[in-house]
Amino acid sequence: MNDFKGLDLPEKPVIVWFRNDLRVSDNMALTAAAQTGNPVIPLYVLEKDDETVPLGGAQEWWLHHSLASLSNSLERLGAPLVLRRGEAANILKEIVDETGAGSVLWNRRYVPAQIKRDAALKSDLRDSALAVESFDGQLLHEPTQLKTGSGGPYRVYTPFWRAFSESCHPRPPIGAPKELAGFKAKLASDDLKSWSLVPTKPHWAGGIGEEWTPGEDGAQERLKHFLSDALDGYADGRDFPGKEHTSKLSPHLAFGEISPFQIWAATEGNRGEVPDRDFTTYRKEVVWREFSWHLLVNFPDLRSENYNSDFDAFPWREPGDELERWQKGTTGYPFIDAGMRQLWRTGWMHNRVRMAVGSFLVKHLLIDWRHGERWFRDTLVDADPGSNTASWQWIAGSGADAAPYFRIFNPILQGEKFDPDGSYVRQFVPELADLPDKYLHKPWEAPEKTLRKAGVTLGETYPKPMVEHKGARQRAMAAYEEMKRKTG
Ligand code: FAD
Repeated sequence: MNDFKGLDLPEKPVIVWFRNDLRVSDNMALTAAAQTGNPVIPLYVLEKDDETVPLGGAQEWWLHHSLASLSNSLERLGAPLVLRRGEAANILKEIVDETGAGSVLWNRRYVPAQIKRDAALKSDLRDSALAVESFDGQLLHEPTQLKTGSGGPYRVYTPFWRAFSESCHPRPPIGAPKELAGFKAKLASDDLKSWSLVPTKPHWAGGIGEEWTPGEDGAQERLKHFLSDALDGYADGRDFPGKEHTSKLSPHLAFGEISPFQIWAATEGNRGEVPDRDFTTYRKEVVWREFSWHLLVNFPDLRSENYNSDFDAFPWREPGDELERWQKGTTGYPFIDAGMRQLWRTGWMHNRVRMAVGSFLVKHLLIDWRHGERWFRDTLVDADPGSNTASWQWIAGSGADAAPYFRIFNPILQGEKFDPDGSYVRQFVPELADLPDKYLHKPWEAPEKTLRKAGVTLGETYPKPMVEHKGARQRAMAAYEEMKRKTG
């Protein structure tokens, strides 16, 4: 158990400012506050106008349920969660005035604009004679910690992984506080429902609700299920979207309902019980998340600018209704459409399919990766400023450690290889369910009789492909050559 007694905090109420750490276990700020023995005031501030990281619709839905769950846990521990809406700096000062709090604790977050705001706020609050302390919790390492031999940040994953394995030794997670001393008076708190985070008209989040249980208990349940049923076989199974072989912990991580330290320690407990290849592959994926944040923190414009500025000269096409067809999953390529519909219906998409749909948008359609990134941000429950940006730039070819440009995912072969029995496509594109496997990923090649028997009329019940694969590939390579000519 970490001992925070070394912390020099005044004998006054302590504010714990929750942000993307919506859990009570392995929450360093909360435990530090509990150990002071002073009244604890847990606070969440909805900064709807916070332009640093606006939440998409799917994540607003998640946030509602996650806060409800956190609120229950804190109530049980003895210190109810205070919900306020507005600018965090003002709200914190408001609560200090109302309660006489002497310190503010939080766990660090890492979007560059947030780092700046938090640093400014910390110094502001300290100027007002408050004690302010911040803690780790979102990442296994501090993103500026690892440096290459020449002292700069890493740009390539494999050496990053090597350096991480050699010098980062994630701490063991800590448990939840046994109890919290609550503040003596009831503090004003918004009614969560009044924040209108859950869509009503239309109520489009039904499929998301069927798929997920936001909150710390839901996260622990997922982890338990993954360790007992899916870690064994992960290295190969993780590529098949029709199988449940990945942990689906990403939205829980995005909201901090589980910490990476908890995942790291839990997998350690399974070391030796599953093949080493599965164990290591899983950990490497968790470290991809660390790498994405390493990139974002060290290259703060990564969310909006091409990492490789040559791509500023890339001849992107106007998105128009092609973007809409991609978003709706009506491209005419079943594997791509299944992915986009999975995203819309459940708020999540399998990693293999994210790569295929991403490549389709930026290479087959030549639409700027930023349109894809924005759509994912609005529809994914796990939208993550680090991983989403770094992955889109990787797919587009503009990122650090990007895929070589000629690596253009073939949407037919991807489907045939990674959804060989068609279970994934049949689940999300049911209008093709009765096609035989042989034609499922390329219905336009099926004989008329086969289509008729399966109830498929191309162009009516299911679209014809919006671009032809070979031609689109050639067009993408020509666009790349044009960019190279322009940039010398
Ligand atoms: P698992 O296979 O169980 O992996 C465990 C954890 O490792 C994940 O929860 C995640 O935190 C991390 N991880 C796994 N793969 C990656 C990866 N390639 N990059 C970074 N971290 C990884 N992931 C997000 O969390 N948020 C995003 O917004 C996001 N956007 C993406 C956009 C594109 C275009 C692509 C290609 C990938 C994106 N990813 C994103 C990465 C990856 O697809 C998801 O992390 C993964 O599918 C989550 O499912 P899981 O939890 O079952 O993963």
